[in-house]
Amino acid sequence: MDDKLMLMIPGPTPVPEQVLLSLAKHPIGHRSGEFSKIMAEVSQNLKWLHQTQNDVLILTVSGTGAMEAGMINFLSPGDRVLVGCNGKFGDRWAEIGEAFNLNVEKITAEWGQPLDPEQFREKLEADTEKQIKAVIITHSETSTGVINDLETINRHVKAHGEALIIVDTVTSLGAVNVPVDEWGLDVVGSGSQKGYMIPPGLGFVAVSPKAWEAYKTAKLPRFYLDLGKYRKDAAKNTTPFTPPVNLIVALQTALRMMKAEGLEAIFKRHERLMNATREAMKALGLPLFAPDGAGSPAITAVAPTHVEAEKIRGVMKKHFDIALAGGQDHLSGKIFRIGHLGFVSERDILAAVASLEATLRELGYEGFTPGAGVSAAARVFAQT
Ligand SMILES: *Cc1c(COP(=O)(O)O)cnc(C)c1O
Repeated sequence: MDDKLMLMIPGPTPVPEQVLLSLAKHPIGHRSGEFSKIMAEVSQNLKWLHQTQNDVLILTVSGTGAMEAGMINFLSPGDRVLVGCNGKFGDRWAEIGEAFNLNVEKITAEWGQPLDPEQFREKLEADTEKQIKAVIITHSETSTGVINDLETINRHVKAHGEALIIVDTVTSLGAVNVPVDEWGLDVVGSGSQKGYMIPPGLGFVAVSPKAWEAYKTAKLPRFYLDLGKYRKDAAKNTTPFTPPVNLIVALQTALRMMKAEGLEAIFKRHERLMNATREAMKALGLPLFAPDGAGSPAITAVAPTHVEAEKIRGVMKKHFDIALAGGQDHLSGKIFRIGHLGFVSERDILAAVASLEATLRELGYEGFTPGAGVSAAARVFAQT
C-alpha cells in the first residue's frame, strides 16, 4: 500500500512528521545570521547529546565519511593502531586504515560475538614503548547486532596513557549511554540517518583536546575532511563549505524532540525495544545471533533455522509493508535484522512481531504457539 512502508532497517531510520515538515522549507543562505542562529543551537544540543564539552563538528558526509575524518585527522602514515573487528563496520575501520597506510593490527572476534577487552589489555600493556597511537572500535556493530564493551576497552586505553580512543558510535549514540566526557572518549563519529531521526546526509565527529593535540602533528593528507577547518568555522557558527541547510534545520527539530524526551528516557526506550524484540524471537523459536548481554539496543539480528531469512524478509515487505534488513557479506541469506533505532515506539515492535508471526505461518513454519511472540513482547513492555 502506498505510504505505508515501515522502515525497520538500521538506517535510514523512520523520520517524525515534524522533522519532515521542517525539511519542506526554502533553503536559507549558509552565511546568513538566521543560519548562524540555527548552528549555534544545534551545536549546543549536539554537545548535550554527546554528554560533552568537546567540539562536535558537522560534516556533509555519510557515516563512513565521519569515520574517515575521525581517523585521518589524528594519525600519520605507518602509525600502529589496534582495530577491533567483529563485523562489517569493524572491518571497514581496518580498510580505511589500510587505505591510508597505517600499520593496522586487528583484534578480531567471530561475527555475532563481542570483542574481548582482555585482548586489548594484553596488547596495550605489552606496548611499553608507547607505539600504539590509537585504539579504534565500533561500539554497536550493526552488521551483527552486537554491542561491544566500550567502557572496559576504553579503561585499558586510559591505562596505556598515550593511545587515542576512536569510536564509531553510529548506531549507539542516541540509543545507549555514551558519556563522552566521563569516559574521556577522544574521537566519536556518528551519522544522521541512524539515531538522529533525520534522513541521510550529515556526519558528526566529537573531538577531545587530546585528539586536537594529535591533530597538530598528524601527517595524513586531508582537505575536505580537515576537521581544523570545521572547528575554526564552528566557533563562528558556520561551516567551511556549503552544508545541506535543510538537513540542519531538520536536525534542529530532531534535537529539540530528543531534548524533550530526555537522554535517560531515550536510553530506557531503546532498552525496552531491544528486550521485547529479543524475548519475542525466543518465544517464536527463532535463534538470536548475538548472545544475551551483548545485544545492540539499536538492532536485533536473527538466524532462523527452519525458514529462510530472505523468504521472511520478502513476505514481511510484500504483505505487511515492513522493511527488515538482511545479512551482509557471508551472513547474506543467513540472518535477518530488525532495526529498532531512533523514532521507534513499542507499538512498532508489537506490529512487527505480529506481522512476523503471520509471515511465519504463511511460510508454513508452525514451531510456535500463536501469539507467543506478541505476548512475550507485551510482557516486557508491561514490566518496565
Ligand atoms: C550505518 C553505519 C555506518 C555508516 O554507514 P554509511 O552508509 O556510510 O552511512 C558506520 N558504522 C556503523 C556501525 C553503521 O551502522
